[in-house]
Amino acid sequence: MPELPEVETIKEDLNELVARAKIERDQVLDDSLVENATPAEFTSKLKGCRIVGARRRGKNLVLDLDSEDSVVVQLKIGGQFLLVPPVQTPTTSLMLVLSLDGVRRLYLRDETGFTRARILSAEEFEVWTGTLGPEPFGEGFSVEYLRGKLSSRRAQIKSLVLDQSVVAGVGNIYADEALFEARIHPRRKANSLSMEEWDALHGAIVGNLRSGVEHRGTTFSLYRDVLGREGSHQEHLKVFMREGEACLGCDGEIVKEKVGGRATFVCPACQSEDGFGGEQALLFG
Ligand SMILES: [Zn+2]
Repeated sequence: MPELPEVETIKEDLNELVARAKIERDQVLDDSLVENATPAEFTSKLKGCRIVGARRRGKNLVLDLDSEDSVVVQLKIGGQFLLVPPVQTPTTSLMLVLSLDGVRRLYLRDETGFTRARILSAEEFEVWTGTLGPEPFGEGFSVEYLRGKLSSRRAQIKSLVLDQSVVAGVGNIYADEALFEARIHPRRKANSLSMEEWDALHGAIVGNLRSGVEHRGTTFSLYRDVLGREGSHQEHLKVFMREGEACLGCDGEIVKEKVGGRATFVCPACQSEDGFGGEQALLFG
């Protein structure tokens, strides 16, 4: 599902392409889309509004309207925003269409049907996002914050990195990549990490997300930007979806395991479960 870099790319596209556009007509095409209003209530609140701009909070995409309401979209596994033209009119799995300024239409589609939206006032938005942790690129996400929040926890480090109340925006792809870069096994208990490992993990989370944004997201199958283009970060992944392939850090092989119920990609040599990674494992072995 779209994580921070994918949602950030879509947000940037929407700001470039549809900010200040007027929603002349809108139609909910899948009744399961809107969680906090009927389709009729939702469409009547959008009709005639201008899109002031787009924002991102964690993995949530936010369209701010000049009515001071915001449409908050959780793009689940296959969620896509597509602008027609230049993209050809999509015909399947449509959830919402906004007719903008005459001929342009912004479609929301999702082959998996899991994408959800809600319309919120500014106050409701604050409440709804109140449980989210800091933004990884913001001042609130320091290494001191991360270590202070987690270093006494006995839970597995991967599950904590995925917890949106710890840090907002990290999902399965970027968690595995960050843990590999920091040479930390995803199953390690948080309270077993050293100061150096907290430093490495913090740097790797921020660095991998930034790299994902630079490459306009990761596309394995369904993710597209607003003009229907794929991201390219999949070409830069070091462990995710690379099971059976050579590790880029040693002469071992990447394996796929389940950690906390999630498919997880790890190099067992570089990311030792007992806490000694890479060269250290050789020294102590
Ligand atoms: Zn390795």
